[in-house]
Amino acid sequence: MQNKLETIENAEQVLYKTYNRFPVVFDHGNGVHLYDSEGKEYLDFGAGIAVAGLGYNDPEYTQALTKQAGKLLHTSNLFYNQPAVDAGQKLLKAAEMEKVFFTNSGTEAIEGALKIAKRYAFNRDGHGGHEIIAMKHSFHGRSLGALSVTGNDHYQEPFAPLLPGIRFASFNDLDSVKELVNEHTCAILMETIQGEGGIYPATEEFLTGVRKLCDEHGMLLMLDEIQCGMGRSGYMFAWQKYGVKPDVMTVAKALGNGVPIGAFLACGKAATAMQPGDHGTTYGGNPFVCAAADKVLELFEKRQITEHVKEIGGYLWEKLEQFVKDHDCAVDHRGMGLIQGVEFNRPAGEIVKKALLENRLVLISAGSNVIRFVPPLVISKEDVDMMVEKLKKSL
Ligand SMILES: *Cc1c(COP(=O)(O)O)cnc(C)c1O
Repeated sequence: MQNKLETIENAEQVLYKTYNRFPVVFDHGNGVHLYDSEGKEYLDFGAGIAVAGLGYNDPEYTQALTKQAGKLLHTSNLFYNQPAVDAGQKLLKAAEMEKVFFTNSGTEAIEGALKIAKRYAFNRDGHGGHEIIAMKHSFHGRSLGALSVTGNDHYQEPFAPLLPGIRFASFNDLDSVKELVNEHTCAILMETIQGEGGIYPATEEFLTGVRKLCDEHGMLLMLDEIQCGMGRSGYMFAWQKYGVKPDVMTVAKALGNGVPIGAFLACGKAATAMQPGDHGTTYGGNPFVCAAADKVLELFEKRQITEHVKEIGGYLWEKLEQFVKDHDCAVDHRGMGLIQGVEFNRPAGEIVKKALLENRLVLISAGSNVIRFVPPLVISKEDVDMMVEKLKKSL
């Protein structure tokens, strides 16, 4: 194996520098643990940014990948393949939706959702120029369409001009949404629980109000469940906790447990808005990634992952409440299930770095002052206890 410093040095030479990475080279994983190139063990409470829901190196999952890899990886969407049907059926059932389109990432799922919104409005009145309302402090991805609906000036500024007709309301402020609605508005897009923005769940009043507003004005409600979906909230999709169903939903991250796959799902008029020829992808929904998603969905059901998340999420909640009580530097605690955040009165980056390098605990920040806890969904109470110990040592 290459030595660590050599790997890092070579990486800095070849990889386009859009990240400031931590000086750690991970080599393999098992359960909720990662192991670096020197064999050191880390407790993982980041899951590769909310991706590895089933943890690492799950035998049943790995076996399904191996089996499909030896059979067929890719055929293009000019033909049918069985894993896409299997994964699609399971996903639609879990999401109570009618149609699904598989993508390669979250940002592409958002692109698809935006196209549904535009096409839906075009079908309705035969002209373009429609407007979409998104939220401040949101995050929807890095491609230009998704960046256009990401309410973050810092991300947007160097790449302007972006998509026209996007207006930003304040999350959890229904009046701020109402003020932006006009006869050109065709859709409202938001995360059910804002992730990158600092772990802010939608209030019930807000989500219910936005749904009602969409119904009154014939607008689509589009919920981004890329981070908070796939069991993380304690429900398969976070909106199921609120009983507010979207017209369009995006998923990715934990859907493939590490294999790159996302999806946009639709029901009602949104499910038939786009026509053959309107959208496509070469890789999207290929047999390999769909076999992965199919197995993930099967294992979620078989192992009753959402029930486990409800229980262990409650335990994490108690522990973090106590942590915030005991530490003056911790000022707030938000979230649900296994998507929780603690806000500090100083930059979270220092704590995250110390946790990683000195205490071998993988954490991720969200915004500048928030640490988000998005571990593999299969963690145990002992893992939570261990995490809190390590976190305390990292302050
Ligand atoms: C990560 C994320 C995205 C973008 O997904 P990528 O796979 O990185 O393109 C979009 N929306 C939300 C809420 C996310 O957390």
